[in-house]
Amino acid sequence: MDTFDVVIVGGRVAGSTLASLLGAGGLKVLLLERATFPTDTLSTHVIYGDSFGIWERIGAWPAIERLGSAKLWGISWIRDGRPDIRGRFWTVRGHDYSLCIRRLLLDDALFSNAAETPGVTAVQGARVTELLGDADKRLAMGEKAYQVAVDEHRVGEQTSELLSRYLQAL
Ligand SMILES: Cc1cc2nc3c(=O)[nH]c(=O)nc-3n(C[C@H](O)[C@H](O)[C@H](O)COP(=O)(O)OP(=O)(O)OC[C@H]3O[C@@H](n4cnc5c(N)ncnc54)[C@H](O)[C@@H]3O)c2cc1C
Repeated sequence: MDTFDVVIVGGRVAGSTLASLLGAGGLKVLLLERATFPTDTLSTHVIYGDSFGIWERIGAWPAIERLGSAKLWGISWIRDGRPDIRGRFWTVRGHDYSLCIRRLLLDDALFSNAAETPGVTAVQGARVTELLGDADKRLAMGEKAYQVAVDEHRVGEQTSELLSRYLQAL
């Protein structure tokens, strides 16, 4: 039987980053993603320094820098052939630029980082189909579709306290 402190459904930018943070914080985390990486998603690609700071903290930053994405220092809106609004980005956590990172590459790098983080079990191609309140029904590892059983006692008294303490420290 596999039990986890936290189950995260969805392993892109938010889910994978959170899994790495919580795993590094000592929690036992299951990260489930129905897609198989590398896989794209609808988004433009402008990412700012506050994200870089968190990725430095979880150890994903060197791999993301190696992607060689274009740096952007400012933005200019052009209307009728003339700049309408123009400005530089603020410096955030020591970074005075944003990065134009393709999600195809970014999400893959973050999921890989989560998978390598101690305490994190990261499974792709795994679709969560149901949330069960009955703690006797267990998560079936190795299947393509998952039912996640929630032990409400632990969620109430242990996991949510650990989570909130950890997230407050961010
Ligand atoms: C057109 C557009 C432009 C954008 N431009 C920017 C930008 O320039 N900069 C920026 O910072 N943000 C931008 N965003 C916002 C950004 O894309 C989202 O905030 C971000 O993708 C959210 O990430 P997420 O990890 O929370 O969720 P998602 O990227 O939506 O990932 C959720 C994941 O959960 C998985 N999932 C869902 N259900 C299940 C299930 N039952 N079982 C298993 N897995 C499941 C999905 O497969 C998916 O991979 C843009 C968004 C759009 C639409």
